[in-house]
Amino acid sequence: MPIDTFKFSAPASADILIVEDEPKMAELLQTYLTAAGYASRWISDGREALPQVRSRMPDLILLDVMLPGCDGWQICRELREFSDVPVLMLSARIGEEDRLQGLELGADDYICKTPFSPREIVARVKAMLRRRQRDTPAAASSTALSIDHELHSASIDGVTLNLTQQEYRLLKALAAAPGRVFSRDQLLDKLHDDYRAVTDRAVDSHIKNLRRKLEPFFDGRNVIHAIYGVGYKFEITEP
Ligand code: CA
Repeated sequence: MPIDTFKFSAPASADILIVEDEPKMAELLQTYLTAAGYASRWISDGREALPQVRSRMPDLILLDVMLPGCDGWQICRELREFSDVPVLMLSARIGEEDRLQGLELGADDYICKTPFSPREIVARVKAMLRRRQRDTPAAASSTALSIDHELHSASIDGVTLNLTQQEYRLLKALAAAPGRVFSRDQLLDKLHDDYRAVTDRAVDSHIKNLRRKLEPFFDGRNVIHAIYGVGYKFEITEP
């Protein structure tokens, strides 16, 4: 199989990213989402949306259309180049043209902000998350790490990791056997096909960089654990 995908369970509660420049609306949305059991983050500048998504993939995005910096259409278009996270667009007015434009750009659903009904928005969010869960039962509230053996690349929830070849090889070995402890020597063997004069300290330095690149996808948690005097293992611990 050219691509292996490993699934890891994540906290059950969904994480919702709100991109909205009106503080009162955002605050109201957060209140209702919290009451419904969801965690949420809020940003008001359109330019911050994609960096936020890349630093930690949300389970759903509430995306306003009219935003300072970069509008919701543009964000949606760029987002779809690397992620299929559900997007609910919030628009002040929704004409047929808006709907069509949004659909073409990959938005999943729309809601009109006038009249503003946070209750309805939460109901739609629930429905979208349920639909998502039904479509991808195994991926429901879990993090998926994919290893592409042909391209020698790895991705998490569809976001390609920017790894060196050494980091890719280490991750491939560790993630294929979660919980198994690998010695530095074993990992060193994975680093190069041919013999090279590298020390096992090289493993430590690659592991350090790999950890730094993985942490944003696991809410800042470390997933590559050092076992004192032995080596390393890949394991996702509950927060
Ligand atoms: Ca707005």
